[in-house]
Amino acid sequence: MTDAAPRAMRIDVFSIFPAMVGDFASQSLLGRAGQKGLLDIRVHDLREHTTDVHRTVDDSPFGGGAGMVLRAEPIYASVEAADPPRPLFLLGPGGRRLDQALAQELAVSGGFSMLCGRYEGVDDRVRTELCDGELSIGDYVLGGGEVAAMVVLEAVGRLVPGVMGNAASAGDESFSHGLLEYPQFTKPAVFRGMEVPEVLRSGDHARIERWRRSMALLRTMAARPDLIEARGGLSDADRALLEEFPAAD
Ligand code: SAM
Repeated sequence: MTDAAPRAMRIDVFSIFPAMVGDFASQSLLGRAGQKGLLDIRVHDLREHTTDVHRTVDDSPFGGGAGMVLRAEPIYASVEAADPPRPLFLLGPGGRRLDQALAQELAVSGGFSMLCGRYEGVDDRVRTELCDGELSIGDYVLGGGEVAAMVVLEAVGRLVPGVMGNAASAGDESFSHGLLEYPQFTKPAVFRGMEVPEVLRSGDHARIERWRRSMALLRTMAARPDLIEARGGLSDADRALLEEFPAAD
């Protein structure tokens, strides 16, 4: 008996600029994951669910003020027609901040959806009644949710089982163990007088492993001491490694 093929993880995106997200999702790693049947990314054009000749998706805010607000009707109609996987996240600066742990969580979920806001934002009834939560990609304001959707697609998509060629690569990456990744080098061994650390050319895999771990610790201590603190500081094993490899070479 053969194993059944894994079902593609479906992610739906709602936007007034579907081509931006659709083009992005059709290329590189995400595009290949789609072709292999691992990811099923569906992008929906909110304008398809407008009822006027100008395909209007926005209107002025009640109470006055600058800018326009995305209307609830086309968003509700689009979501109801697509019946997308839940949770449906509104992308916005007020949402739960995306980090590697959340990307990992979403990558093993049964699928999810994202709604891209534009202009001054989205009629708040969409946020409170239609969406299941909010996602932010950081404490800054973008012009629209499309770039945020692409960030989420890429961060999550590459972690979906089977998407990355070398399954081990995600386990070693920055944040996966609460540390930044160790430095990487490729050929040539000497470039403009700069040498690749000798240990990486030694063929001694246990020593390479210890060196990498020590470099990851050093790098994280220098660039992101908050990550070391979040792990409860350095362990005895960490200290021993740092003694063995106190610097890159
Ligand atoms: N007036 C809103 C505010 O002050 O919070 C900002 C609206 S912004 C110009 C338009 C859209 O961009 C938002 O509705 C949201 O979908 C998206 N957006 C902006 N910043 C974002 C962020 N940090 N993360 C995710 N989406 C964001």
